[in-house]
Amino acid sequence: MNTPFPSIEQLRTQLTSREISAVELTEEYFHRIRSTSHQLNCFVSLHEDSALQAAREADSDIARGRDRPLTGIPIAHKDIFCIEGKKTTCCSRMLQSYVAPYSATIVENLENAGAICVGTTNMDEFAMGSSNETSANGPVRNPWNLQHVPGGSSGGSAAAVAARLVAACTGSDTGGSIRQPASFCGVTGFKPTYGRNSRYGMVAFASSLDHPGCLTNSVEDAGRMLSAMAGNDTKDSTSASQEPIGWSSSTRPRRLGYPTRLFADLPQSIARPLEEARHTLEAAGNTIVEIELPHFDVAVSAYYVIACAEASTNLARYDGIRYGHRSKFDGNVEDMYAQSRSEGFGMEVKRRILTGTYVLSVGHYDSYYMKAQKIRRLIRDDYLRAFHQTDVILSPSTPTTAFRLNAMDLDPTDMYKQDQFTVPVNMSGLPAMSVPCGFSDGLPVGLQMIAPHFRESELLELGIDYQNLTDWHQQQPCLPKT
Ligand code: GLN
Repeated sequence: MNTPFPSIEQLRTQLTSREISAVELTEEYFHRIRSTSHQLNCFVSLHEDSALQAAREADSDIARGRDRPLTGIPIAHKDIFCIEGKKTTCCSRMLQSYVAPYSATIVENLENAGAICVGTTNMDEFAMGSSNETSANGPVRNPWNLQHVPGGSSGGSAAAVAARLVAACTGSDTGGSIRQPASFCGVTGFKPTYGRNSRYGMVAFASSLDHPGCLTNSVEDAGRMLSAMAGNDTKDSTSASQEPIGWSSSTRPRRLGYPTRLFADLPQSIARPLEEARHTLEAAGNTIVEIELPHFDVAVSAYYVIACAEASTNLARYDGIRYGHRSKFDGNVEDMYAQSRSEGFGMEVKRRILTGTYVLSVGHYDSYYMKAQKIRRLIRDDYLRAFHQTDVILSPSTPTTAFRLNAMDLDPTDMYKQDQFTVPVNMSGLPAMSVPCGFSDGLPVGLQMIAPHFRESELLELGIDYQNLTDWHQQQPCLPKT
């Protein structure tokens, strides 16, 4: 086994004992980023000056004993979160020159906890995609195999964390965009309950499904990030006021819901590591309880109706006047809107806007949008029923390991099926996490754990137990030397 990379807790100990300074640590990360990130294309922008300034302040805070939970820890933000005075582009031509006038609440919360932002990470355009191939900045590559995708839409964050180019990253998850790339890149991806993290300052894709979260090298690191990010925010009307996220290190047996049918049709490459993970958890004293999720099969269709409907309204603001790219085209104002939108948005975003507008239009609203909303309720009820007899539900994170670049170019619905295990969880607003549980042909496999609303602590505790028994999360990709 390779030497485990330091956890956030270990880095904090090194910083507070002055074994290393925050400036040295930040410089070391920039050195790693400069020598490897071009192979992965995982960063959109680097904020070296402001990061080093923040690191100097962190050092003086540490010297004065003004220590906070993440003081001096280098992190990066997905390019969907506004950072005051910096570009936030959502990897779209539409927002190529947008400079955020304020910071997202979670960006502020992490800054207030002492974290140092080194830059922003690549993503699918407006977070629409499962492979990072829809980014206007070009695809990210999977650090375990450069010919394969890292997953999406938080592919840049997943690749950067997997390659240890930052200690942790933020991400957003509307239908799986934290858990699917986490699974493809062999890192921990955590999406908390809807309302736990503020969406203020996160560019909206589908507001009722959008969840901010994080990608880290371990469950414990995810817990540290989440406790710093989360909290009630009056600037987001869907933000919840709840007790802070906590977790204890004592092991206790849990009832683990096992939707047998979901595991039945998996390829061997995924089935074998998941089976092993189940045995590990059982051997540790947890009980497996078979459950059923009867509406699972219709979740992807309903998700794409609701997500596209919400996207079509959210993205109406990019018209070249209120927001976004304005075409040089000379014509009347109607033509200018059309031309700006047609130049600014990529193919996948256009496809979603058209689909969303269609399902919301008179004559189609009842048969598509209303029906999808009813299915959404049934899916949520399935989970809530299953939680009567279980503490945490287990599921695959993805139906395959990371696929090759361009493998899904022909039919977009092949890509949509990538999300089958993750979208039902967004439709229900439940907290969920993907943890690495093995490899197949050198590519990581992820196990998904799902908990009842606001029971993030169940996931953290079970995940920490699992990572104490296994070392999958400590495996690191070996990038070719260039
Ligand atoms: N892959 C899904 C989609 O394209 C989910 C994206 C996301 O979670 N942001 O809609």
